[in-house]
Amino acid sequence: MAICRLRSLFPLSKCKSLALQSFPIRRFSSSLLENVGFIGLGNMGSRMANNLIKAGYRVTVQDINSDVISKFSQMGVPTVKTPYEVAEASDVVITMLPSSAHVIDVYTGPNGLLQAGKVLRPWLLIDSSTIDPQSSRNLSATISNCLLKEKKGDWKTPVKLDAPVSGSVIAAESGTLTFMVGGSEEAFLAAKSLFLSMGKSAIYCGGEGSGSAAKICNNLALAVSMLGISEALALGQSLGVSASTLTQIFNCSSAHCWSSASYNPVPGVMEGVPSSRDYHGGFASKLMAKDLSLAVESAKQAGCKYPLTSQAQEIYSELCMDGHEIEDFSCAFRHYYSGLDEPRGQSKSK
Ligand code: NAD
Repeated sequence: MAICRLRSLFPLSKCKSLALQSFPIRRFSSSLLENVGFIGLGNMGSRMANNLIKAGYRVTVQDINSDVISKFSQMGVPTVKTPYEVAEASDVVITMLPSSAHVIDVYTGPNGLLQAGKVLRPWLLIDSSTIDPQSSRNLSATISNCLLKEKKGDWKTPVKLDAPVSGSVIAAESGTLTFMVGGSEEAFLAAKSLFLSMGKSAIYCGGEGSGSAAKICNNLALAVSMLGISEALALGQSLGVSASTLTQIFNCSSAHCWSSASYNPVPGVMEGVPSSRDYHGGFASKLMAKDLSLAVESAKQAGCKYPLTSQAQEIYSELCMDGHEIEDFSCAFRHYYSGLDEPRGQSKSK
């Protein structure tokens, strides 16, 4: 376990991304991160919690889905019934929930993390869910008014970081997520080893809510690129160019992007991605629709133009209304553009 912990504190493969950010050199006691609570064990959270366990952290988990809880219980991982019990067992709590409403409920609802009132055991609360920046800032303000049950290192009051992630379920599984972190920079530095046990990089974005803001911008760009690639591949099929051929061209030309090269939306072009599994087990269209709504709201508030965000939001809302809300967001290729599967057995892109 000690070796695992050392690896998680200094993962060689991850030094590059950290070095680029020129952090001040400081030492934080690893005992501050000994007991980690994890709430929300869905597509992403279950894999992130697993990576923390592999890295040697003592993890206590909670979810409202009893099936996933019994899987963790069978692995010998301590499970509890409420977020409040998670808080009572943890130095740090990580939440990975669908939306702002779920996060607010887990923090402030009955039996929530803050049920004990203003005196908390965890010194650090990390929300990795994709939520709107304002809700994120509001929760940070609430937590900054709380006290710690016991002083933890130099920390006298609890702190909250917003730390949403980029990367698919595959990246959550392989521990190669990117964390975008908002809040206290000191707390970010103290939690670095936790982030790097679940991801390949952790980027500090600024004060409270700026991690959430960065994530919304990232997903707006992702939605537009996925729709652009899907539209182009479906047009290509109609013009007589196969999706495999076009993908090969995109991937070594100016249209190269993640949606084409790593997460291709055409069933039969690439193995190991949701399109090869009938769009199961990825980033649900309903979550993309939610993120685009957050982007539209943020653009309105900021007084920015948002024609592509707005169009993408309409497309994903339509997909959800047509019953594809659980399918991966790359299903727009099949269900919005009526694109065709690539015949199996043709040359595959990896
Ligand atoms: P998911 O729906 O698979 O998992 C959410 C989990 O939260 C479920 O297990 C659910 O039972 C649990 N939950 C809901 N309410 C709860 C409550 N009150 N208390 C305890 N548990 C509760 O979602 P996901 O795909 O894992 O995504 C989680 C977050 O990560 C979302 O905000 C999403 O936008 C973001 N995200 C997802 C991906 C992806 O590829 N799936 C990628 C990046 C970011």
